[in-house]
Amino acid sequence: MVEVDLNHIYKKYPNNDKYSVNDFDLHIKDKEFIVFVGPSGCGKSTTLRMVAGLEDISEGTLEIDHKVMNDTAPKDRNIAMVFQNYALYPHMSIYDNMAFGLKLRHYNKEEIDKRVKHAAKILGLEDYLDKKPGELSGGQRQRVALGRAIVRDAPIFLMDEPLSNLDAKLRVSMRAEIAKLHQDLGTTTIYVTHDQTEAMTLADRVVVMSVGKVEQIGTPLEVYNNP
Ligand code: ADP
Ligand code: ADP
Repeated sequence: MVEVDLNHIYKKYPNNDKYSVNDFDLHIKDKEFIVFVGPSGCGKSTTLRMVAGLEDISEGTLEIDHKVMNDTAPKDRNIAMVFQNYALYPHMSIYDNMAFGLKLRHYNKEEIDKRVKHAAKILGLEDYLDKKPGELSGGQRQRVALGRAIVRDAPIFLMDEPLSNLDAKLRVSMRAEIAKLHQDLGTTTIYVTHDQTEAMTLADRVVVMSVGKVEQIGTPLEVYNNP
């Protein structure tokens, strides 16, 4: 069971007089797929980064399984994150790119090997492990970025516009892969996008944001049929 609670969360950056996130309040259920949607600058990334521990929370509390996490280091939050700019190390093999985060965390070789090969199998990358990122297509590189998160085996998955660098056709097929991945891994997922179609097709519930505020929370049907 992994539940995530954002209790009346506010964010004010030191160099900015306005609240970037203003009273964000959401209870996320175990295994739920939540999508934050809204135009650029409305506070989606900031909120996600506060969940990950990459930004301080100004006011309010973040709870994971009913434990307050505001002051917990990112590495102790049991969260895996996939970014828009999924910079892979160009000089490293796909295997080493996926293993990197585990090596940093001092996992032993056998465990790393098991996890990397398992992730490669899920993502159809088994035949590419010895290649360098430059030898892969855009879709395959995005899969490697997902692989880096999957190997962490974390119960919470955060994704920040993971498909926005891909062309339209690839976006559609990767969207389906992400939906399946969520099912198979059984993670609690928060996904950030400015794309309504992604929100509609992926979400259990959509959080519609505008200028720092939550405008609406509901299922895709509730949100997109009742404007
Ligand atoms: P989104 O992800 O929806 O595009 P962001 O969370 O990136 O929105 O930004 C929300 C607001 O916070 C914007 O007004 C943005 O300019 C501001 N902001 C983001 N990062 C910083 C920062 N490091 N310092 C000051 N203001 C920031
Ligand atoms: P984790 O998946 O545990 O965050 P990573 O090894 O993927 O571990 O990344 C650790 C940090 O380094 C992250 O903040 C990530 O965004 C950053 N990072 C990973 N790969 C690159 C890269 N090729 N260039 C720059 N930063 C990177």
